[in-house]
Amino acid sequence: MTDDQYTFQDPSKMFADITPSAQYQEGAGLDSELDDRADHGEKTYRGSGRLTGRKALVTGGDSGIGAAVAIAFAREGADVAISYLPEEQEDAARILALIEETGQKGVGFAGDITSPDFARGLVADAVSELGGLDVLVNNAGKQQFVEDLLDLSDEQFDETYKTNVYAMFWITKAALPHLAPGSSIINTSSIQAYSPSETLVDYASTKAAINTFSKALSQQLAPKGIRVNVVAPGPIWTPLQTAGGQPTEALPTVGEETPLGRWGQPSELAPAYVFLASGESSYVIGETLHVNGGMPTP
Ligand code: NAD
Ligand code: MG
Repeated sequence: MTDDQYTFQDPSKMFADITPSAQYQEGAGLDSELDDRADHGEKTYRGSGRLTGRKALVTGGDSGIGAAVAIAFAREGADVAISYLPEEQEDAARILALIEETGQKGVGFAGDITSPDFARGLVADAVSELGGLDVLVNNAGKQQFVEDLLDLSDEQFDETYKTNVYAMFWITKAALPHLAPGSSIINTSSIQAYSPSETLVDYASTKAAINTFSKALSQQLAPKGIRVNVVAPGPIWTPLQTAGGQPTEALPTVGEETPLGRWGQPSELAPAYVFLASGESSYVIGETLHVNGGMPTP
């Protein structure tokens, strides 16, 4: 028997064989170009029908946390649409193949969600390809560290907000008319909303906005039977980190600040999203599930 997410093991010793190096990637970064590959549960995630018949859209599902979520959703019985940037086609193709391997439908849409037209069209296309929608995971995100506010350009500030906050708004608004009672919206926040780094002023503040947007919307939608929740990851080994998310030289030691003393892997996030997507969490609304290696949050 191989290990799966139910295997009894010491969390402080897991993934010791994955050792991130000081690596830099241009653009959004590719999982296929990571010096030491991240774990998305490819070999370990075992489904048990928790999302049978569901139809999900996961933005940024080509790599990192979104990829782990897409794989888990498919293995739990959902059809899954993923979105990604055109430059990420190779990563997306790999994840779509893993979705199809489960026997579920996997569809991919390449484009830039900072375009409201693409963002809205993405939802329409996902709905038409999947034949409906009942799980929306707003996960795509942009993170670029800048040491001095005087060097934080208006363009970067705008792009970070467009990617992390505006796109979530556009996509959620477009999805809403399609979401029947029982549907679930899950937004991806960050430990940065609670314990912001001095180099991530724009990014950290978008994550606080995501939290409060989600709590407010959860109040509005609960009476309609649609639940909104948040997952707030800690330091997770993904391409975003190598593509300017952190100073390159910090990569080998990121995660040491957590009580577990290590990076998290995308595969460790997926069960939180599965829980919040499924009817198991029917009474969980406006909640933030922290998956951060033990860093205390308010
Ligand atoms: P990732 O690079 O694997 O995923 C981010 C994805 O966002 C990319 O794959 C890309 O497809 C998508 N994206 C970015 N800009 C886009 C644009 N303009 N148009 C369309 N798609 C775009 O990295 P990840 O770490 O898995 O990030 C997923 C989410 O997790 C993000 O919201 C990120 O802020 C959040 N998060 C990550 C960490 C971490 O340590 N890695 C911690 C907390 C929160
Ligand atoms: Mg990617």
